[in-house]
Amino acid sequence: WKQAAGEVVFSHFTKEEDRDVLPSPLIADLPEKPVEIPAFSKLRDVIFASRKTETLQDRVAPAVREKQVRGGTRVLSDQAACPFRAFARHRLHAEELEEPAEGLDASKRDKLVHLLMQNVWDELKDSTALQGDLSPAIERAAAAAVKEMAVEGRFAELERKRLARLGHEWFEKVEKARPPFSVVSTEEKRPIVFSGVTFDARIDRMDRLESGGHAILDYKTGGGNLTAKRWQGERPDEPQLPLYAVSAKEEITAVVFAKFRPGDMRFVGLSRDDKALPKVPKAKEGWQPLLADWKKEAERLGQSFAGGEARVDPKKDLITCRYCGLETLCRVYEKINVLAEEEIEEW
Ligand code: SF4
Repeated sequence: WKQAAGEVVFSHFTKEEDRDVLPSPLIADLPEKPVEIPAFSKLRDVIFASRKTETLQDRVAPAVREKQVRGGTRVLSDQAACPFRAFARHRLHAEELEEPAEGLDASKRDKLVHLLMQNVWDELKDSTALQGDLSPAIERAAAAAVKEMAVEGRFAELERKRLARLGHEWFEKVEKARPPFSVVSTEEKRPIVFSGVTFDARIDRMDRLESGGHAILDYKTGGGNLTAKRWQGERPDEPQLPLYAVSAKEEITAVVFAKFRPGDMRFVGLSRDDKALPKVPKAKEGWQPLLADWKKEAERLGQSFAGGEARVDPKKDLITCRYCGLETLCRVYEKINVLAEEEIEEW
């Protein structure tokens, strides 16, 4: 190597963390001296210096032409969270790459709970069945759910037991404490229409209540602070349940998250009167005005999506962006100071 050219320059690093590092013995005999490196321009700076920029406000895409949009109510919840997110996901079909997870990821565990509850209620039908021994129905439902999700081997056994445990806790603590009801539908697909666009919705569950009307339930297995505030105001955090409520043909008198977390299982939501479900208060502003507000907001969101509104506008800045995955596409960090990320609080 030393003879390979008229002048050969060798370099070596001198530190590795706190340790001094010696050169390789192969070059130890060479004299050490500073190397003159001319000041080359950085390619980035050369490109930037030759720029001819023009500014273009590009916040509105062409209006949606399709009468039916795939993606369900998630389209409108994305529109509420950030119009660009809805545009990118549901019109450009941009999604972040999935990361492989060991075992079941959160969405598969969530799906298992949905299947468990669907299987149990397909068998029990109404609250009169809650007086008997529920163990056989829960065990059967848990086994069927695990099979349907193609979970296999020892892992399947663990999941089956975990699901059955969750099922027992839910039925003992929540369903048995309720006034009489019957389950009208589970995981029912139904189209909902806003601003002339049809969205394919899926309602986790609808119950007919003895106190009158129907309750819409949404199973929640994940983290986060579950409150009815998630449905309030402009650009609600979770507009799905309000969207179902205002488009249902049935008379809806309660809307609830079914909080499916071990040790803290309960309903969280709002109702027309406080007799519908245990500890579910009635809406302070009155039920009909609440439904009217939800309808107005649902129409506004539908109109905004259908009209092509696609501005980069995360509702709660980087809190909204945290689990989005589209930040390399929307380049939000060029708009919002990335250092602010450190100030994000849990919500
Ligand atoms: S990362 Fe943030 S700004 Fe970008 S699309 Fe997602 S929510 Fe919108």
